[in-house]
Amino acid sequence: MKHQPPPPPLPLTQPPSLSGGGVGGVSGSSSGSSSIVANAISSLNGNNSATSSSSCIQPANNNNNNHNNNISSSRGSSFEAGKCRPPLYPKPKTPSFDKDRDYIGFATLPEQVHRKSVKRGFEFTLMVVGESGLGKSTLINSLFLGDLYKNRQMPNVEERIEKTTRVEKKTMDIEERGVRLRLTVVDTPGFGDAINCEDSWRVCTSYIDEQFRQYFTDESGLNRRNIQDNRVHCCLYFVPPWGHSLRQMDLDLIRRLHRKVNIVLVIGKADCLNKQEVRKLKERILQDLEDNHIQLYQFPECDSDEDDDFKQQDRELKASIPFAVVGSNTILEVAGKKVRGRQYPWGVVNVEDPEHSDFIKLRTFLISTHMQDLKDTTQDVHYENFRAQCISQISQHALRERGKLKRDSISSTNGFDAAISETDRLLLQKDEEIRRMQDMLTQMQEKLKQTHLMEMKKNDSVIDV
Ligand code: GDP
Repeated sequence: MKHQPPPPPLPLTQPPSLSGGGVGGVSGSSSGSSSIVANAISSLNGNNSATSSSSCIQPANNNNNNHNNNISSSRGSSFEAGKCRPPLYPKPKTPSFDKDRDYIGFATLPEQVHRKSVKRGFEFTLMVVGESGLGKSTLINSLFLGDLYKNRQMPNVEERIEKTTRVEKKTMDIEERGVRLRLTVVDTPGFGDAINCEDSWRVCTSYIDEQFRQYFTDESGLNRRNIQDNRVHCCLYFVPPWGHSLRQMDLDLIRRLHRKVNIVLVIGKADCLNKQEVRKLKERILQDLEDNHIQLYQFPECDSDEDDDFKQQDRELKASIPFAVVGSNTILEVAGKKVRGRQYPWGVVNVEDPEHSDFIKLRTFLISTHMQDLKDTTQDVHYENFRAQCISQISQHALRERGKLKRDSISSTNGFDAAISETDRLLLQKDEEIRRMQDMLTQMQEKLKQTHLMEMKKNDSVIDV
């Protein structure tokens, strides 16, 4: 049977721009997060031609979390839920049965998936770690054109002596062209601030584990629908520009986190360094990581059928790691153009100029090209790791219980038939449970082994080249 080529997808209706410009952005910005997120989401859905049309930021529903700090509430009336446009989805196609006799209809599957995921919305959690003053908040605000840190209070010197690291979670709902993204930024104020900061890493690791545990519990529960995914999908780790390489404290944290979360290293305040210094610092950092057998987030190989521009962009992104970034919340006018930059007596650092910083590369990577891969790696590698450990612990616990039951049954000897048969029944039940868990464990270990082998092969081929 000859198949007709699938009909072209219906174009998305272009909604009119919201008045006021720069929704969700700092004052003076006329474009930004809307286009960033549109590009990001459209690239998640395989659409590379997204253009920003409208966006609105809605209050996040954070009722169940006291740490959540909903920034949208401080954004004024233009962000009120009622004022946002309703989601726009491409309408499903109705095949014309008379004309297209050979048309089966499965060519619309991508559209069906697209519609469903757009309806469901997307979630992404980003953790930022690094000592105070490295420009973390400024960078996050620059990336997402928001003001997540309005009411921040800086600790004084005495407070810092005893200061402990905390976890602060802020959520914002961004909506654009009918696509909703719930972005959660997990900050760790106080990290590395105390005189003795040996344990700063503990807060980060236990937060990440706690989110995995919650997801594992939800997933094993009766109601598996609408599970909220709070797992950390990416950790931006800020390295100061004034060191010669990674410090012991950085290595300690990265070593403890690299198997739990996708770590992306960022050199903060890179405008303190000239080009050569940036290059040298990047080289030393990469060398340190290699010497310490630390594996940060691995960029997936670019498919051979991708177009040349994409391949080039992928190569440039990989070559820029760790990203040397500059952040700014100020919009300046340079040669008649509005740019996000930092004004110095000798000139302007344009945050978005690739000659000045890797800000655009980081933004492209994080939002437009690799957001979905970061989520997939979290699910397929880090969470699977955690799950395998959990199941192994549960099965060990069950084994201990079984031994205890056996001992109890022997000690209550020659007892009553009824009691023995009850014990036997429990033993059989436990045996069955253990067998199931061991099967699952073997399967997961096999899967992990294969992923590991594939990664090794990949690394080998990279070294061969
Ligand atoms: P955080 O404590 O890590 O969140 O740091 P902040 O974002 O609050 O920034 C601390 C100070 O550094 C502020 O005065 C910022 O204006 C400034 N700053 C932020 N980013 C940069 C940057 O890229 N370069 C320079 N030179 N200063 C920056």
